[in-house]
Amino acid sequence: MAEKVDVLVVGAGPAGSMTARFAAEKGVSVKIIERRGEVGVPVRCGELVPSLEETRGTFPNAPDLENTLDIPSYLIARQIEGMRFISPKGRVTEFPFTGVTVDRDRFDQHLASEAVRAGAELVRGCSFLRIEDGIAVTEGGEIEYKVIVGADGPTSRVSRELGLPRNRNPYPAVSSIAKGDFEPVIQMYFGGIAPGAYSWIIPKSGCANVGVGFAPKFSDGKPTEYFRQFAEKQGLDIIQEVHGKYVPSEGPIKRTVSGNGLVVGDAAGQVASVNGGGIPQAMISGRICGNVVADHILKGRPLEDYDSGFRAAIGKPLKTAAFNKKLADTLAFGSDRRTDLCMRILGQRRMANLVRCMRIFP
Ligand SMILES: Cc1cc2nc3c(=O)[nH]c(=O)nc-3n(C[C@H](O)[C@H](O)[C@H](O)COP(=O)(O)OP(=O)(O)OC[C@H]3O[C@@H](n4cnc5c(N)ncnc54)[C@H](O)[C@@H]3O)c2cc1C
Repeated sequence: MAEKVDVLVVGAGPAGSMTARFAAEKGVSVKIIERRGEVGVPVRCGELVPSLEETRGTFPNAPDLENTLDIPSYLIARQIEGMRFISPKGRVTEFPFTGVTVDRDRFDQHLASEAVRAGAELVRGCSFLRIEDGIAVTEGGEIEYKVIVGADGPTSRVSRELGLPRNRNPYPAVSSIAKGDFEPVIQMYFGGIAPGAYSWIIPKSGCANVGVGFAPKFSDGKPTEYFRQFAEKQGLDIIQEVHGKYVPSEGPIKRTVSGNGLVVGDAAGQVASVNGGGIPQAMISGRICGNVVADHILKGRPLEDYDSGFRAAIGKPLKTAAFNKKLADTLAFGSDRRTDLCMRILGQRRMANLVRCMRIFP
């Protein structure tokens, strides 16, 4: 006999935990299944969360950000004050940028515990496998649901089972930790060191998150090899294993709802194509998703309201970011000389706009 639940959420990342929390708060029964034995472990992230002010500037239409992106102070590793771009020739462009770094494993665990506190059940070490006759088949048995939410990241199985569009051209990216004291500025290195994307150093407390992402269309190399070269060049003292996954690169997928299923977060491509950041969007969309799903079960609200809701909140800046990324792929990436020239032409103000998902021209 299949177990019965109102909402089955697959994946306990920020998108899944926020969905589960807000659905459970409205009184429907929610179960989250997470394939990892421990939520958030291992960390595969730069661990940067932009400040409320930055997020509000990037996503001015996102509702009630104060309560959506509320990060308890004990989770904050470091305050960030600026961002520095380093061109292939070593030219430096710097501008103010505020945010915090977190320990991403503890951050995800906090969000999952908030969902559990709201009444959701969390099952770890349980993978979603497929949908058969409207029932989810998981490693822990069969689950009958009224709504299934795929919050299972960039290579979402739920999305595939629902027949929704998949993320095209995701970028491999890896991260680790370097020991040492670093100034409170994010450093982003461009050029052959990370073809079509960038390498980063993001300061934490007594250490920094270090990573590399690249575009497969500009290189068929290995992310770990790019990481090794970057760490060596910067003389970094790497103290943890390198872990990685994919980052969606082309903005939100065209459709996110199919029948009684939907996808959210990286599964829906809700990442800023220009910088690979997706934590705030996963949280904003997860909250919208949880509310719509619960209203659907309790009052018959159409699930499509989730699709239109997240696009109204964050869709336009993500579209602009995807457009700018395509432009950069065509004009700037592919040769260090071109990348350097384009960065010089853009200058400080336009590069700051770029990172904030804003138009760079006129
Ligand atoms: C190297 C790297 C650095 C990054 N740095 C930043 C950054 O600094 N700031 C930022 O904002 N964003 C960053 N991002 C992007 C950010 O991590 C994602 O946008 C964010 O995690 C999206 O949240 P999510 O909940 O949609 O997906 P995820 O966080 O990927 O969560 C998906 C969850 O689903 C689980 N899962 C997957 N398949 C199944 C299955 N079949 N059954 C059960 N569970 C399953 C996974 O184990 C995982 O826990 C980075 C990404 C990478 C790869």
